[in-house]
Amino acid sequence: MEYERNVGISVKIYFNELSRQYSYYKEEYKKAAIDVLESGWYTLGKRLERFEAEFAAFHSSKYCVGVNSGLDALTLAIRALGIGPGDEVIVPANTYIASVLAITENGASPIFVEPDEYYNMNAATVESCITARTKAILLVHLYGQAANALAIKEIALKHHLKLIEDCAQSHGAKFLGRMTGTFGDIGCFSFFPTKNLGAFGDGGAIITEDEDIAEKIKMLRNYGSKVKYINEIEGMNSKLDEIQAALLSVKLAHLEEINKERIQLAKTYQSKIKNERIMLPQTREGAEHVYHLFVVRTENRNDFQNYLKAKDIDTQIHYPIPPHLAKCYGYLGKIVGSYPVTEEYANTVISLPLYIGMTKEEQEYVIRNINSY
Ligand SMILES: *Cc1c(COP(=O)(O)O)cnc(C)c1O
Repeated sequence: MEYERNVGISVKIYFNELSRQYSYYKEEYKKAAIDVLESGWYTLGKRLERFEAEFAAFHSSKYCVGVNSGLDALTLAIRALGIGPGDEVIVPANTYIASVLAITENGASPIFVEPDEYYNMNAATVESCITARTKAILLVHLYGQAANALAIKEIALKHHLKLIEDCAQSHGAKFLGRMTGTFGDIGCFSFFPTKNLGAFGDGGAIITEDEDIAEKIKMLRNYGSKVKYINEIEGMNSKLDEIQAALLSVKLAHLEEINKERIQLAKTYQSKIKNERIMLPQTREGAEHVYHLFVVRTENRNDFQNYLKAKDIDTQIHYPIPPHLAKCYGYLGKIVGSYPVTEEYANTVISLPLYIGMTKEEQEYVIRNINSY
C-alpha cells in the first residue's frame, strides 16, 4: 500500500507520522472503536480476552495478559517472579530507562552490561556480572533487533536465573526463526503508539508458558484479586482497556505487512546511504530485524542533526543519556566512564525518520541530503 501525499516534497520530513498508519486501516479501526463504545463494557471484557488469545497465538505462546503499559508489563513480570529488595537483575546499560525503572520499582538492583556491536547486551560479559544475589537477566531487544538470546538463555539456565525479555521495540522480530519474547520465562511488550504494534494510547502485555505466572500477573493488574473483593495479594490497577484491545486486534492482523514496510524502508536506507561519516546499523546473523528504529552513528552527531534540521528533516536520539547517568539514578554511584561503550553510543547515535506511509520521494529527499553531508 502506498500513502498518497498531496503536497510537494519540499515540506518538512517528520520523524514519525502516525496518522498515515491510521489511514491505511481507518475503516477497520473506526468500526472496532464504535463497537466498543456501543457495547457498554470498557474494561476486562471479551475484546481484551480476544486480543490476549490472538497475541498469544501470534507467538505460539500459551498465555498473554494485557496490562496498562510496557513499563507495567516489566514491573509486574519482575514482581510475579518474586524479585525484590536485596536481589540483583542484570540489564543492558544501553536501553531505554523503563527497563531499569521496572527493576528499581521492585526495590531490586540493576547490574549493567555493556552492549555489543549490534547495540544489544554483550553475551560475552554477562557471566562476570553474576553474584550470589543475581536473580534474573532482563534482556532487551533494542531498536527492533533480537539480542543474542540463545547464548544468554544458556547462561540463565546454567546459573538458575530467570530470563525476562523486554520486547517493547521488537514485535514480530525473530532470532533463528524464533519470535522474541519466547526465549525466556516472560516476554514483555509495550503498545505505546510509536511502537511497531502501537495502540492509540498506552498499553502493554506479557506472554508466558507458565500458568502460575499468568495467573499472578492477572491478579496483580487487578488490585490483587481473582474474584472481586477477595484480595489475595497487594496488586495495582494496570489493565489494557477494551478499546485499546479492540484496536490492537485490528493492527495485529496487519503486523506482518507493517513490519515488511519498515524492513523495506530500512533496506533502502542501507543500500542508498553512501557517506563515510555515517555508520549504518548491522544485523546479527540469524536475526530478523523489524526496524522499530533506524539508528546510525556519526562522530559529530549534533552537527549532523543540525544540518538535517536545516533541511527540514527531523531526527531523534535513542538515547542521549544512558540510565546509569540519569539524574534519578545518582544514588547508584555511577560516573561518566563507568560504561564507556554505552556512553560512546549515547554520544554518537541518531535515528533517521522511518515510519509507515513514508513515501519514496520523502525517503529519497532524506538520503540525498545525508549523502551530501
Ligand atoms: C517503550 C519502551 C518501554 C516502556 O514501554 P511503555 O509502554 O512506554 O511504558 C520499555 N522498554 C523499552 C526498550 C521501550 O522502548
